[in-house]
Amino acid sequence: MDLKITETKTRKELPDDSKLGFGQIFTDHMFNMDYNPRQGWYNARIEPYAPIVMDPATMVLHYGQAIFEGLKAYRTGSGKIQLFRPDRNMARFNRSASFVCIPEIDEAFLLYAIKKLISVDKEWIPRAPETSLYIRPTIIATDHYLGVRPSNTYRLFIILSPVSAYYPEGFNPVSIWVTDKYVRTVRGGLGEAKTAANYAASLYGAEVAKKAGYTQVLWLDAIEHRHIEEVGTMNIVFVISGEIVTPPLGGSILPGITRDSVLTLAKHWNIPIAERPITIDELIEAHKDDSLQEIFGSGTAAVISPVSHLAWHDDVLTVGDGRVGLMAKRFYDAITDIQYGRAEDPFGWIEPVEEE
Ligand SMILES: *Cc1c(COP(=O)(O)O)cnc(C)c1O
Repeated sequence: MDLKITETKTRKELPDDSKLGFGQIFTDHMFNMDYNPRQGWYNARIEPYAPIVMDPATMVLHYGQAIFEGLKAYRTGSGKIQLFRPDRNMARFNRSASFVCIPEIDEAFLLYAIKKLISVDKEWIPRAPETSLYIRPTIIATDHYLGVRPSNTYRLFIILSPVSAYYPEGFNPVSIWVTDKYVRTVRGGLGEAKTAANYAASLYGAEVAKKAGYTQVLWLDAIEHRHIEEVGTMNIVFVISGEIVTPPLGGSILPGITRDSVLTLAKHWNIPIAERPITIDELIEAHKDDSLQEIFGSGTAAVISPVSHLAWHDDVLTVGDGRVGLMAKRFYDAITDIQYGRAEDPFGWIEPVEEE
């Protein structure tokens, strides 16, 4: 497929690397591509970043038929630009698409388009330590129709956003709120797909947690409200008696690439791992008998997010000594060292974009 590139004549001023935040600033260009049943995916183009003008009857606005991905481009100390396991994001994008009846895309072409887009906007990749360029591919349903069925037409777009270091003041642990009232998703639903709908479903519970003074929600399964699933929009990992324990991908959990990287590293280091169901009761017991050593979330944005406190009913448990655990730090350092080219990549996780 051809990729047409139209560069802007008016480049924006580059932001100050120390004031980026997350997802607030966008680069000069975006990628767009359309789908209709006759042509398939067509009209792939990189063009100036611009609003998408939509008919008010556009289906995505009513029924939420939309998926997305999230990955980052990193600038190494020697000036290389690289991606981390992007083939996994492309494969997951297609998998998410299948869950909400969105037609399949060519993964190799999409990765090529991402690299081209990054090259056009490469000056936007920040240089300060631990900063990166966040990449957001999205597909939305674009038929103008209020009947309920999958759309016949779609728009795929990719936007780029320079983002700050997630931990500007160093690695800091968070307090989380366990809920047996609200649920994010249920087996047989969309939980293992990266859909807009899952995020809509998680907002209310997350606000309740925030109002109670917690950073995130720990989601339990939707049927028994006992099995631990995810934390906020991250996968969750426990260290219990020296073993890495994480819930299995049973249909309601998003298959995180960071989660997979943690498990791969643990195997590589000969640390025992168990992908198995774990209930909140077991966790409380493990805390009581002191075998619960660490809890952390894993996801592209934070990489590793250590958990210091867990609120469950009327109790607030302190995890370990309430400080960042050794394992959390070890995984964080190993993953970010590969991402930023400070360490060897024995797993073939790095995909170069270009050398400066
Ligand atoms: C994206 C996401 C994750 C983390 O996936 P990564 O590939 O590690 O970024 C975890 N849970 C949910 C619900 C997500 O949407």
